[in-house]
Amino acid sequence: DRSVSRGLGDVYKRQEYNFDEEIAFLTDITLAKGVSGREKEVAKTFIKYAEPYADEIKRDALGNVIAYHYGKPNGPVVMMCGHMDEVGFFVKSIEDNGLIRLHPIGGWWPLCLPSDLFVVTNKEGKEFLGVIGARAPHGVTQEQRKNVIPLENLYLDLGVKDKKMVDDLKIKVGDMVTPKVDFHVMNDGRTLMSKAFDDRIGAAIALRVLKNLKGVETECTYVCVGTTQEEVGLRGAKTSAYDVEPDISFATDVSLSHDTPDVLDGGDSKLGAGVAMTLCDAGILSHPGLVNYLKETAQRLEIPYTNDFMAAGSTDAGTIHKTREGVMTMTVSLACRYYHSPYSMINYDDYINACKLMTEAIKNVNRKVVNKIREAKY
Ligand code: ZN
Repeated sequence: DRSVSRGLGDVYKRQEYNFDEEIAFLTDITLAKGVSGREKEVAKTFIKYAEPYADEIKRDALGNVIAYHYGKPNGPVVMMCGHMDEVGFFVKSIEDNGLIRLHPIGGWWPLCLPSDLFVVTNKEGKEFLGVIGARAPHGVTQEQRKNVIPLENLYLDLGVKDKKMVDDLKIKVGDMVTPKVDFHVMNDGRTLMSKAFDDRIGAAIALRVLKNLKGVETECTYVCVGTTQEEVGLRGAKTSAYDVEPDISFATDVSLSHDTPDVLDGGDSKLGAGVAMTLCDAGILSHPGLVNYLKETAQRLEIPYTNDFMAAGSTDAGTIHKTREGVMTMTVSLACRYYHSPYSMINYDDYINACKLMTEAIKNVNRKVVNKIREAKY
């Protein structure tokens, strides 16, 4: 219908993807700082991108950002979340010589830390550059060279001479420490590298769907949630899902990319292979009816996808599906290389495919669809 499509012109425009605009958006959202429990800055960024397209935005006591696209009254409620928090550190102590000891927030492998740049953000929001000291190999024994240096032995060097100088910078115990990185479009023009794609890419997809649905009449209400404290135990998902009371829910997160020599356990998910349908991880067996629904939608749109299995690790879905009397939930993932390290990689086309798929899937949810999904029981 031409008149309808003319009337919805801005809606269709929003569903087009301009590479430079998307890169600017992903740069903003990945470089925002926000270790678990310190999500203030990234929440501000999340709200900035939700505000023009949301009917209402709420925060809860744990800092979750809950943005609504309202459907018909009594329509079903669909929640999709990406967690805003990232792995990082708190300042644990400041030594007399000005070196800073770190308390890890979320899972870190100390092997990837020496020589990395980090910033400490103090209470006033000021940032201070430091490097995790890497010992010169001179005088290191052959035996020592084989070992990963435990985190307790590492320190952040701010290039100051004593504790007083650190105090003068108003750096205090408990301040957040995050990787200092730049955003890069890599050499194939499709691979993106930045910090915290776990899980800013999930937050970005949830936000992009909110943007796409602006002005679109849906029977369902879509709730786009930026959750907090996922990396320390799926905590923000717990309170937000309780509040939102969804009929169905998607947690969008990253999953292992099986295309490097160190990750070769036979999985199909890899950069550029499409959207990863996570059938199970350590926290959830994704709802079979919901998985079917999403696969059917992907087939209809000719969007590539993989079956994804995660032996270890879980996502917000692990807590959402156990909310109240139970919520039909699944994890939708993007393959990601090197997450939980300062530089991670995803594929731009996977991101766009996920945005298109989730927009279409959520747009079409109505009572009939929910009932059909429910029929496919565990
Ligand atoms: Zn994650």
